[in-house]
Amino acid sequence: MKYDRILIRYGEMSTKGKNRNRFVVRLKRNIEKKLKSFSNIKIEYMRDRMYILLNGEPHEEILEQLKTVFGIQSFSLAMKCENDIELIKATALAAVQQLPYEGKTFKVSAKRVDKQFPLGSNDLNYEIGSHILRNTESLTVNVREPDINVRVEVRKDGTYVTCRDILGAGGLPIGTSGKAMLMLSGGIDSPVAGYLAMKRGLEIEAVHFFSPPFTSERAKQKVIDLVKKLTTFGGKMKLHIVPFTDIQQAIHRQVPDGYSLISARRMMLKITDLLRKKHNGLAIVTGESLGQVASQTLESMFVINEMTTTPILRPLVSMDKTEIIEIARKIDTHDISILPYEDCCTIFTPSAPKTRPKREKAAYYESFVDLMPLIDEAIANTETLIIDETFTTVDEFEELF
Ligand code: ATP
Ligand code: MG
Repeated sequence: MKYDRILIRYGEMSTKGKNRNRFVVRLKRNIEKKLKSFSNIKIEYMRDRMYILLNGEPHEEILEQLKTVFGIQSFSLAMKCENDIELIKATALAAVQQLPYEGKTFKVSAKRVDKQFPLGSNDLNYEIGSHILRNTESLTVNVREPDINVRVEVRKDGTYVTCRDILGAGGLPIGTSGKAMLMLSGGIDSPVAGYLAMKRGLEIEAVHFFSPPFTSERAKQKVIDLVKKLTTFGGKMKLHIVPFTDIQQAIHRQVPDGYSLISARRMMLKITDLLRKKHNGLAIVTGESLGQVASQTLESMFVINEMTTTPILRPLVSMDKTEIIEIARKIDTHDISILPYEDCCTIFTPSAPKTRPKREKAAYYESFVDLMPLIDEAIANTETLIIDETFTTVDEFEELF
């Protein structure tokens, strides 16, 4: 008798009433995408849980992959048997014996969902517990803090036994909250913002502003690599690379130093919003954290934000840098983000950017530059890459031959 399935618990989405079906179907699709290389698995789903039938596929690898799927509260290896007490006892024992670790203590937590079943939960606990005690060498019972919690659920369609709960990624299935554009620089913050936005069920398309020749191909590659990391959670992702050099130079020439950064940010937001409209998004996500740098004071946000009424989501707004770095390490973007290649803002950053800009002044300075044709051109020349875990750049591809 072997573990033959993985039981998946949904957590938060179980509270979503009528929308639940949509959530569950989306989660199933996301899991199928994630596990597409395991061709024998089958997924069964119901209102409150999902089963991945392994059909001989390696369960440890699948468990590992599931840890990055949003919308899963927890999951466990499971065995199913018929509702027959002798079979249930044998299955529970087999489940304990096949754990990849040894415990010293255990308890049985049985639940009788099918009220037709003749034994109640206490009787089940007793019967199964004593069977395990009789047939193992060193295990003893500890109901408070057991090393192994043998969960047995007698349901209408059969009995399910699980021993170990693995914590899922939480959140909501990607795609259930709609689509947003992520303003992705090469820094530490914006990839973390993207991760957190995806965690709440958003589908993300990334937008990156790029200023060649002031920024190198390597800076672009860095952003591609960051997107690749984010695909661990969301699968394939679009990256729009916007040529920003002409706009940045026009701003640099016309707008006084103290306002050039703000104006550049305003134009980035304006362009991102136009791209959002073109690609049917409903929000913009940034890596801004209040007060972190000059462009992220509330006054600056106020002036930058003026470009649009689209919701701007700032998942990091109240986080400290150390908290952001911690997440960046966890999702493995940190080491890419700290690579030294310049991004388009660092090059044009004035020595003393205004920390309390005024919107009238920003608009006034910008009125001397005809930015709209430049914006149209930047959008027309935007390059869109579709990135998945195996994406290689053209250069790398050429090197292969
Ligand atoms: P990050 O670490 O994400 O670069 P930061 O601390 O450097 O953030 P800023 O440079 O002020 O902060 O940028 C604030 C936000 O503006 C970024 O988090 C990102 O969402 C957006 N942004 C900045 N530069 C770019 C860029 N070149 N392309 C796209 N978005 C950008
Ligand atoms: Mg930055």
